[in-house]
Amino acid sequence: MPEKTPMTRSEMMSRIGTKNTEPELKIRRGLHRRGFRYRLHRNDLPGKPDIVLPRHNVVILVHGCFWHGHQGCRYFRVPRSNPEFWETKIQKNRDRDARQVDQLADQGWRVSVIWECATRNYPTEELADKIAGWISGNEKRDEIAEHTGASTEMEPETT
Ligand SMILES: [Zn+2]
Repeated sequence: MPEKTPMTRSEMMSRIGTKNTEPELKIRRGLHRRGFRYRLHRNDLPGKPDIVLPRHNVVILVHGCFWHGHQGCRYFRVPRSNPEFWETKIQKNRDRDARQVDQLADQGWRVSVIWECATRNYPTEELADKIAGWISGNEKRDEIAEHTGASTEMEPETT
């Protein structure tokens, strides 16, 4: 079940710069079970990408919906206190992400962005199959997200 409790400020802060997050581990496990081998957090590539599959020329970036400012996602909501601070901070992250993807693409990597919401809402095996399918193909770019923004279980904004 998707987690509905909003994160507290300290929970959000604690995620800054973390590696080996739960969404990332879920993806790694799924790929590993399917026989894919990867390198983690390669320092020699732009932005130290989370998961790299050199044999397939693939980089996988796992983005937390809050920190990477996932537009239209129910897991991304600007905190009510000090919204300007957060908007600026998150916009910087978005710009950095866009640059990273461009740089990787320029170096010839195929890049997949997998949003945290996909790891929460897709069944693990289904998500792994989806990623594996893309890795084995030859499309340059991939992005996997799960949006259920229109669903009635979303609490209304009362700002
Ligand atoms: Zn999202």
